[in-house]
Amino acid sequence: MSSSSDIAVVGAGPVGLFAVFECGMLGLDCQVFDSLQEPGGQCAALYPEKPIYDIPGIPRIDAGALIARLGEQAEPFRPRYRLGHAVTGLESRCGRWHLTTAGGAAFDAAAVVIAAGAGVFGFNRPPLDGIERYEGKAVHYMVSERERFRGKRLVIAGGGDSAVDWVLALADLAAHVTMVHRRRRFRAAPDSVARLEALAEAGRVDLAVPRQLAGLEGDGETLSAVVLADLDGRTERVAADALLPFYGLATTLGPIAEWRLDLDDARIAVDPATCETSRRGIFAIGDIAHYPGKLKLILTGFAEAATAAHAAWAVARPGRALHFEYSTTKGLPDGGVAAGGGRE
Ligand code: FAD
Repeated sequence: MSSSSDIAVVGAGPVGLFAVFECGMLGLDCQVFDSLQEPGGQCAALYPEKPIYDIPGIPRIDAGALIARLGEQAEPFRPRYRLGHAVTGLESRCGRWHLTTAGGAAFDAAAVVIAAGAGVFGFNRPPLDGIERYEGKAVHYMVSERERFRGKRLVIAGGGDSAVDWVLALADLAAHVTMVHRRRRFRAAPDSVARLEALAEAGRVDLAVPRQLAGLEGDGETLSAVVLADLDGRTERVAADALLPFYGLATTLGPIAEWRLDLDDARIAVDPATCETSRRGIFAIGDIAHYPGKLKLILTGFAEAATAAHAAWAVARPGRALHFEYSTTKGLPDGGVAAGGGRE
């Protein structure tokens, strides 16, 4: 696969994927980078089986299914996916943008569209001895498939929407659920908290509040119990097959903070008329882009993808006039815009 393209899209979340479509409709070919192994950003990593209700024209769709549909929509333009590649370096060379990745690979593009969401993903990890050994086996920071927890004894920790929502979603499936939170009050939607309390009253969920996670027991691979502590440090064991801590995402811009872009409130400041950043030829869209009145919604990011694609066209095709056409007029290409799409 060629390492050169019209556009480098940094981030394969919903907004980055739609940017591929919008760029493709203008005849621009894209390479798409993501530090994760799978496309989909937050939708795929955090809530693939949750329904989204505010995508125009689609009354209800699971987040994972939305990502599959966006991938399908981008496919005629044969994007080159560079998954498992965190973009670490970005610099200008001979009028083009030169990107380097954590693995040391180098790529270049006429323009860059940053759709990096909250930055490189990192889940906040509870400070428990040896927790790393259980991660991916008995400790999970996200649920990509509910069925995996059928018949299991679960300890779910956290006090926000994610923790509460996953207790509600897994209570029917699991053999037993204990919910741990260091306060009595939850920071989740009132309706969800009411449903949680109803489950607790019906004896289908044990509420361990106020309690903290204090330790893990097991053989380093399989978990047998989670140790909880109360506010006075008294401990108790809860038999468990899996621990699901939902302590939020570590939101650091990571290497993007070093790219000499103007930032606003830890996000990239853009001109909303073009989505261009403070550096010519670099655009930012989706959750990572900021301007007055910005709404962090997928549908806002979709519109920004269209805006950025049109503005990036002028950078990738200097001196040429862009004739706007609706998709209904233009249709889709038969063979795609780029020679040889695929994943790497
Ligand atoms: P993201 O989805 O965050 O994707 C960014 C991608 O960029 C990530 O995959 C990341 O790995 C990658 N990345 C970052 N830095 C780099 C780098 N340096 N190199 C390579 N890759 C990089 N929104 C709605 O509109 N409706 C809803 O109903 C809704 N429900 C939600 C429910 C939950 C539980 C959560 C957590 C969010 C919800 N959202 C909802 C918000 C929505 O998911 C985000 O607005 C959306 O994901 C933003 O898309 P994005 O493509 O900008 O960024």
